[in-house]
Amino acid sequence: MNHLGHCLCGTVRWRHAGTFERMTHCHCGLCRKAHGSAYGTYVIGARRDFQWEAGEEAITRRESSAGFTRSFCQHCGSVLPNPHFDDIVAAPAAGFEGDLGIRPSAHIFARWKAPWFPITDALPQHDNYPGEAAPAVTCAAPTPSQDGLLRGSCLCGAVGFEVSEAFKVVQHCHCTRCQRGRAAAFATNGFTSLAGVHFTRGEDNLRVYRHLEARYFAQVFCVICGSKLPRHCPERQIAIVPFGTLDDDPGRMAERHVFTASKASWDEITDQLPCYAAMPT
Ligand SMILES: [Zn+2]
Ligand SMILES: [Zn+2]
Ligand SMILES: [Zn+2]
Repeated sequence: MNHLGHCLCGTVRWRHAGTFERMTHCHCGLCRKAHGSAYGTYVIGARRDFQWEAGEEAITRRESSAGFTRSFCQHCGSVLPNPHFDDIVAAPAAGFEGDLGIRPSAHIFARWKAPWFPITDALPQHDNYPGEAAPAVTCAAPTPSQDGLLRGSCLCGAVGFEVSEAFKVVQHCHCTRCQRGRAAAFATNGFTSLAGVHFTRGEDNLRVYRHLEARYFAQVFCVICGSKLPRHCPERQIAIVPFGTLDDDPGRMAERHVFTASKASWDEITDQLPCYAAMPT
């Protein structure tokens, strides 16, 4: 079985020529920041079945915790497969095309999950990798803000931001660009006014990828660690905040799913939120 994958801009391409052993949703804070999403969904396969097909020179690699390397495309910021273990490859499921012949079997690092994302399916929840007792990574789950300002930062810490105005809309977006760009099942974004978000440090490290065919879609990420960061969109007079990079609990949950017509086949919506096939007007 050949599974082909690529990043949002198409520069980095890969192939996994085998079946996957398992698929899990990872709720660790590192995944949340790297993907800018509620969690990262990963497939595990044999390392020998994996190969880069194109664009390896565009991969930025960085150790995010001891012995664990994360990589992303330096042009578009998509999180990329991680073939740096001895004999397995861990790859974001959303980077692949088509169905992967496997469904999620568990939530891992569930104790670190975002307070703004309730787990509503019946899959087992583990505090670590299944079968391991002590947490391999420790990371802080977001806590309530004390002063009304919501703070956020990227994984490497170079970029920080503050949100000073309330979100007008919070939604889970399942469009193919969000899936590919975040390399996650969906993007959870909060929308506020242009002046409602400002960077407190590291703005020099921001990179913007504008998707060619898209009128508005762009992805902002840290050039050092690839974490997804807020985007100011003057054309629409809004700022868009990826919830995954928030360090504070916004005290707000998503109120709807949008673009569910293009949701991943392995992604099952089990909450009761309204679902819109495209963007509601
Ligand atoms: Zn790319
Ligand atoms: Zn993780
Ligand atoms: Zn960073």
